[in-house]
Amino acid sequence: MPLVNPTGNLETLLATAGCVPETPTGAVTPPVHFSSTFERAADGSYPSGYNYARDANPTRALFEATMSRAEGAEDCAAFASGMAACNALITAVCAGGHVVLPHDVYHGLREVVDSTWKAWGLQASSVDYSGDWQSALRPDTRLIWMETPSNPLVQITDIAAVSQAAIDLAIPTVVDSTWNTPLITRPHELGATYVIHSATKYLGGHSDLLGGVVLGGTMAMKPVRHVQKHGGGVMDPFSAWLVLRGMRSLGARLAVQCRNAEQIAQFLDLHAGVQVVHYPGLPSHPGHAIARKQMRLFGGMLSFEVDGGRPAAMALAGRLNVFRRATSLGGTESLVEHRASIEPEPPTSPEGLLRLSVGLEHIDDLLGDLAQALS
Ligand SMILES: *Cc1c(COP(=O)(O)O)cnc(C)c1O
Repeated sequence: MPLVNPTGNLETLLATAGCVPETPTGAVTPPVHFSSTFERAADGSYPSGYNYARDANPTRALFEATMSRAEGAEDCAAFASGMAACNALITAVCAGGHVVLPHDVYHGLREVVDSTWKAWGLQASSVDYSGDWQSALRPDTRLIWMETPSNPLVQITDIAAVSQAAIDLAIPTVVDSTWNTPLITRPHELGATYVIHSATKYLGGHSDLLGGVVLGGTMAMKPVRHVQKHGGGVMDPFSAWLVLRGMRSLGARLAVQCRNAEQIAQFLDLHAGVQVVHYPGLPSHPGHAIARKQMRLFGGMLSFEVDGGRPAAMALAGRLNVFRRATSLGGTESLVEHRASIEPEPPTSPEGLLRLSVGLEHIDDLLGDLAQALS
């Protein structure tokens, strides 16, 4: 698919995401193809290459091709949500085996592994990649799962180091890179077999769609493509079109979000009412050195902890006026969330922790809001 990218610079690819040059109409942006089925020629062949929209749809294919290019992976399969992408990968590669998960993995994945996948015989170990994680490996380990930065403690995993160890043992790896986007980290280039995103977050970027992707090399993606086609949890054409539209401003959005997040982290770090700030851009963060190595920017997500546990954290969130109290992340608006109260019992997040998704508001408004809520 001829994508506009004359220089190979990621910013240029993204600024024109899905814009195919020299269309018959001259349209600068792509149309949405809603058709669920495509016509055969008289000889029974499919001259367009499309036959049925669960297999492939031109708008979804455009998003998948753009995303492959952006992550530097040969293939991309788009799903109806980030969780649909996660479940498709487990379905495709973990049958009858064992998976290694980070101890602070996205709670939705922990939930589906415990509630559903265990009943299908999947075994799971929780590890801390900053310690001895390799002792959790077993002869039937089918997948090593990483998520960096992690949610909500913003811990950093050394993708290249874990991937190299896994390559030596011929075990596939995946990085849930939702918090990064390809502009910050490209895990496949660092050795990860697969990359996952919840496109609901930064890629879409406007809190108005659900989507997910799995990316990887052509061979590794074969079973994932099979599950996509026959499992059927595919991204719909309108969501694919919306994600492409969101991606065109990703570079500009992320630059502001990361700059705002950095200033907020520094402000909170110096505030007497805050116990600890989790942000990889702070030199005091335990993952700072690895973050410098594998992240182009330090991201728009951070969390911090206050004294007084859940009541104090909830009251603080209740006093915020600019930050909206809502789950999710990566939109243009700043959000605050008390993670422990949305996690299944017992929560793994500290009770005094609030997570911030930093948006595009003026930095003075964001800092002022936090200052008044903390005073
Ligand atoms: C939101 C999220 C998911 C799940 O994605 P959905 O689009 O909500 O299904 C998975 N991993 C991470 C890190 C997330 O933030």
